[in-house]
Amino acid sequence: MANSWRRERWDSLRLLTPNWQSRLPGLRYEGPDPDGYMTMGEVIEFIEHFAKVSRAPVRTGVNVTQVRPAGDGYQVTTSQGEIYSRTVVIASGACNRPAVPPLRDGVPASVEQLTPFGYRDPGQLPDGGVLVVGASATGVQLAAELRRSGRPVILSVGEHVRLPRTYRGRDVLWWMDASGVWDQRYDQVEDLTRARRLPSPQLVGTPERTTLDLNALASAGVELVGRWAAVRDGRALFSGGLRNVFSLADLKMERLLDTFDEWARTEGHDAGPPERFAATRVPESARLQLDLGSGEIAAIVWATGFRPDYGWLGVPVVDPKGQLRHEGGVVGSPGLYALGLPVLRRRRSTFISGIEDDAREVIGHLARYLAGRQ
Ligand SMILES: Cc1cc2nc3c(=O)[nH]c(=O)nc-3n(C[C@H](O)[C@H](O)[C@H](O)COP(=O)(O)OP(=O)(O)OC[C@H]3O[C@@H](n4cnc5c(N)ncnc54)[C@H](O)[C@@H]3O)c2cc1C
Repeated sequence: MANSWRRERWDSLRLLTPNWQSRLPGLRYEGPDPDGYMTMGEVIEFIEHFAKVSRAPVRTGVNVTQVRPAGDGYQVTTSQGEIYSRTVVIASGACNRPAVPPLRDGVPASVEQLTPFGYRDPGQLPDGGVLVVGASATGVQLAAELRRSGRPVILSVGEHVRLPRTYRGRDVLWWMDASGVWDQRYDQVEDLTRARRLPSPQLVGTPERTTLDLNALASAGVELVGRWAAVRDGRALFSGGLRNVFSLADLKMERLLDTFDEWARTEGHDAGPPERFAATRVPESARLQLDLGSGEIAAIVWATGFRPDYGWLGVPVVDPKGQLRHEGGVVGSPGLYALGLPVLRRRRSTFISGIEDDAREVIGHLARYLAGRQ
C-alpha cells in the first residue's frame, strides 16, 4: 500500500498538486489546508485511509511475478501463490524505474551517480559539485535543494514545461482544473503519443507557494547548461541551443495562460488582470563541455524521467519502447485493462485526481465485457 510513495521518493518531496486536488473515489481532502501540498507521510496516510474507507480487499506485500493468458482469462503468479482471473486491471504505475540514458556508461568511476529512487537528501552525496541532468519537476526540485545545501550545482536542461506556481492569485493547477484543460479527452488530444511523453511541469509544492522556474534557479546560483548530448574523452558535451529551448517553453506557457484568460473572460471570472512573466534568461555563455574527471563535480543526479516495468507481463501488449498498448485503458487482449497511466483517458489521468473518472469508465467497460460473456 502506497509502496512507491514510501520507498521511491526523496525526503523533502511534497506533492506538486494542491491538497484539494488529492481526490480518490469517494474521498476528498478535508483537512485545514486545502491549498497546501502533502508531504510524503501525508500522502501515505491519505492512501492508507482510502484503503480503509473503500473497504477494498487489499493484499499488501504481494509481488506479481507473471500474468499470462489462460483459458478465457489470465493466470496470475504471485509471491504468495497462483490466482486465476477472467479480467486483470494493470495498475502498476508508469514510474517503476528511473530512465537513465546510456551516457551513464561514459562517466568515470570517481563520480557518484544517483537516480531519484536512491536520492534521499543532500547530506548523502560526497562533498563537491553536482550535475543534475533534467529540468522537469524532479530535476528543478533536486537542483534547488542541492544548491540550498551550499553545493555548486550545474543543471542540464532539455525540453521542459514551464509554469508559474500561481496565476492571477490562484494555483496554476486550479486554472488547469477550472478552465477544463485537464478534462481534455485522450481522443481529442492532437498528438497523443507526445502528450503521454510530456515531461512533468517545473513545479514544487512549498508552503510559500514559490515558483521554481529556471530564472529562480539561476538567481539562486544554479548554472544552466544545455541538454547533455554525448560523452567524449571523459568530457560531457552539452547542446548549445538553450535560447531555442527556453523560448519554446516560454511560448507554450504563454499559450496556456492565454487559454486561462480566454476562459476567465468567457465565464466572467473576476480574477484581476492577466499576468505575464519575464522570459527565461539565457546565460551569457553557457558552457558546452564539462571535464567529468577534473573533480569539479563529485556526483551526477539523473532526473531524466521514469519508465514502467512490465517484465512480469507475459501478454504481448507492450510496444518496443516498453509502453503498454491500450485504447483509453482498454488493452488489446480481451479482459485486460489499465489504469493510472499518463493521459490514459484525459489529461488529468497523469495525476492522482485522474483516477476517479478513468476508473468509472474503464471498469464500466470491464463490467460490460464480463456481462457480454455470460
Ligand atoms: C516523483 C513523482 C512525483 C509525483 N507527484 C505527483 C503529485 O504531486 N500529484 C499527483 O497527483 N501525482 C503525482 N505523481 C503521479 C502519481 O504518482 C500517479 O498519478 C499515481 O501514483 C498513480 O497511482 P497508481 O497507483 O496508478 O501508480 P503508482 O503510485 O505508481 O503505484 C503502483 C504500485 O504498483 C506496484 N507494482 C508495480 N509492479 C508490481 C508487481 N509486479 N507486483 C505487485 N505490485 C507492483 C508498485 O510497487 C506500486 O506500489 C508523481 C509521480 C512521481 C513519480
